[in-house]
Amino acid sequence: MRAAVLRATGSIATNRLTIEERALPPLGEGEILVTVRACGVCRTDLNIVEGDLRPHHPTIVPGHQIVGIVAQAAEGVALAVGTRVGISWLGGTDGTCAFCREGRENLCDAPVFTGYDVDGGYATSVVARADFAHPLDERLDDVQAAPLLCAGIIGFRALRVAGVRPGEHVGLYGFGASAHLALPVLKSWGCSVSVVTRGENHRAFAEQLGADWVGKESDRPPHALDRAVTFAPSGDVVIAALGALRKGGVVAINAIHLDRIPQFDYDSLLWGEREIRSVTNMTRADARDFLELAATIGIKPAVTAFSLDQANEALRAVKNDTINGAAVITPFNDTVSR
Ligand SMILES: [Zn+2]
Ligand SMILES: [Zn+2]
Repeated sequence: MRAAVLRATGSIATNRLTIEERALPPLGEGEILVTVRACGVCRTDLNIVEGDLRPHHPTIVPGHQIVGIVAQAAEGVALAVGTRVGISWLGGTDGTCAFCREGRENLCDAPVFTGYDVDGGYATSVVARADFAHPLDERLDDVQAAPLLCAGIIGFRALRVAGVRPGEHVGLYGFGASAHLALPVLKSWGCSVSVVTRGENHRAFAEQLGADWVGKESDRPPHALDRAVTFAPSGDVVIAALGALRKGGVVAINAIHLDRIPQFDYDSLLWGEREIRSVTNMTRADARDFLELAATIGIKPAVTAFSLDQANEALRAVKNDTINGAAVITPFNDTVSR
């Protein structure tokens, strides 16, 4: 198999991943070997590669938005060879901690994250726990399904954490891979969606996807927001979202890493039972519910494909926001040109 391997973290301005040949890994109990058809590139991959997230292993293969075909299954596994599955960030939990037992496996005390604790999908093959692999509806395309598996699921969870109800005014702050998948979900719920984002091309893209109002960071949406979700890794954006919220509204922060939370005025921004919540990981129920909705309403993410050899380039594209929608690595297609 071939894999893009991280051996030393640092700025992606220089290539951090090396393409290596390696033997297929052996299967453990309850595991499957998956031939990768597509793997989305997430901002979290960038945080891992650049070292914003402390390395858990001296080497790792990133990638946790994996679409592939089961090539081999350990004895007793219910998934048949040939099944198409999706593998996401939550690669495993202990199933026994207090959080798992109360149905909050996203907060598990001993989680296993794909592409961080175990090797991920920037590769031609990957091993995963069968009980954390999601069979994919045939209405979902390989490459387009990849960004659904983290950006999509976590964006959907963020809407749940924000407590969005049908018909509400919702603000999306930042318009990258996750937000552009949350927008069609909100439209399917009859919500009015305001998008606040810095990049002019992102604003045009949001308009094209049916946002009801689009503005810059310094602009204020036309209606006070019932809910807001922030996607940028910036505390200033959280404060901007708070400033647009009605009393009793919620800001959900969809970022695994934030630069800082600046000092802000409690009286005008948080009083009135406004709330700030963080969005942490995902549950298998989030994945199941979102993937079903995505197939039903026909969410078609905008994707830009990269070959495995272009993995560093794909990460730079995410870092520098040079593409609309999501970057996806297709490891068996080395002919992608740009
Ligand atoms: Zn647990
Ligand atoms: Zn992710």
